[in-house]
Amino acid sequence: QKLVVLGGGESGVGAALLAQAKGFEVFLSDKGQLLEKYRSILREAGIPFEEEQHTEERILEADEVVKSPGIPEKVPLVKQLKAKGIPVVSEIELAARYTRAKLIGITGSNGKTTTTLLTYHLLKTAGLNVGLAGNIGDSFAKQVIDDTFDYYVLELSSFQLDDMYRTRLHTAILLNITPDHLDRYEYTFQNYVNSKFRILQNMQPQDDFIYFQESPAVADELAKRSPEVNRLPVSLEQAINPGGYLQNSRLIAHNRSLSFELDMAELPLKGPHNAINMLSAVLAAQSVGVDSDAIAEGLRTFKNASHRLEPAGTVNGVAFINDSKATNVDSVFYALASMEEPVIWIAGGLDKGNDYSQLDGLVRQKVKGLICLGKDNRKLTEYFTGIVPILYETQDVKDAVAKGLEWGQPGDMVLLSPACASFDLFRNYEDRGNQFKEAVQSIAN
Ligand code: ADP
Repeated sequence: QKLVVLGGGESGVGAALLAQAKGFEVFLSDKGQLLEKYRSILREAGIPFEEEQHTEERILEADEVVKSPGIPEKVPLVKQLKAKGIPVVSEIELAARYTRAKLIGITGSNGKTTTTLLTYHLLKTAGLNVGLAGNIGDSFAKQVIDDTFDYYVLELSSFQLDDMYRTRLHTAILLNITPDHLDRYEYTFQNYVNSKFRILQNMQPQDDFIYFQESPAVADELAKRSPEVNRLPVSLEQAINPGGYLQNSRLIAHNRSLSFELDMAELPLKGPHNAINMLSAVLAAQSVGVDSDAIAEGLRTFKNASHRLEPAGTVNGVAFINDSKATNVDSVFYALASMEEPVIWIAGGLDKGNDYSQLDGLVRQKVKGLICLGKDNRKLTEYFTGIVPILYETQDVKDAVAKGLEWGQPGDMVLLSPACASFDLFRNYEDRGNQFKEAVQSIAN
């Protein structure tokens, strides 16, 4: 059987290695250049590959194609494959065939990485034999070559879900659906919603489906579909059992015979969005039998990935927060909602068709000043002039930090939470966050 892999990043190279181990004749093709580490892995394994081109004759001979999530459906090559009836699947779909582990899948427009890392940490703290994969870390495919885990926690983007067909998740989390990536979905929100709901497609009635019930798009779509699964809603507004909710500052969750309760005030993750993420992770841990003590210990000892409401240092009593991963409006909404102090807000970058009206109330209530950090700040300045008391524009992250310090009083927060992509001034969101942290460090010294 011939298997072609399109795209030679972490997931593509992992898929090639797995396919080879399972006896496929493998060829990998990438339109760009591969990282040197991936070239040498492929060479060492004796897997043929090409760079900076797609040789169509060879690709169209495949019995099956594994497509990297970064390649859009609409490129001519993918259309040709589909027209010929050649199955096109994601690396997750391929890998899932070769594992006996139970799969916990996590998706949503925001909060995937946090919730995935946390769920993994809860299972690990409980002593379970668990792997972490999906849109994060080592590829799932590479890990199932020696299939040693009993559970995997998988972060699933909509692009990965689009090329999944048979994979069954024993537990799934759908955190929220708000507009994002619409360029890949014909600018139709419903297409993006459908993509996220693919997470349910092979779930059985006894499988646990955990979802945030106050996400309007999630609630509306569920009402239309009424899937046959064990539903476990998460709520910030209402006590629900089974399910998870917040009561004052207490996290409360009930799933089957397991009950959990803990005060959020003592935990490292803060803010209402993280209450949703924590309740979802707790219900998922309960769905594989993790008890309250292990969950509480896991929540207390969790350390999130960088660039998500990450403390970046305090200078003259002004605290700086790096939330560079907030690349859409909904994540900024929750960042502002998490702030108890007056905020100097740094935003801007590449606009993705943002509608800022969702932020009006919070900005009026909390934001003392807005610093626009982008090549083109027109949309932000036009929208927020008259809403924020003061506004400043810059293209230099050091200058933005210096202005934040100048405006700040002891007890204020300077929050980098951009609502935009970073590619106008930075390599990626990590680069933006790191430069911000360095700028804070340099004025601190
Ligand atoms: P993802 O992997 O889906 O991008 P992350 O956990 O990396 O999610 O968080 C991305 C951004 O979204 C961060 O800025 C964070 O503050 C914000 N965020 C995290 N969880 C949620 C949530 N449940 N709802 C809305 N925003 C969130």
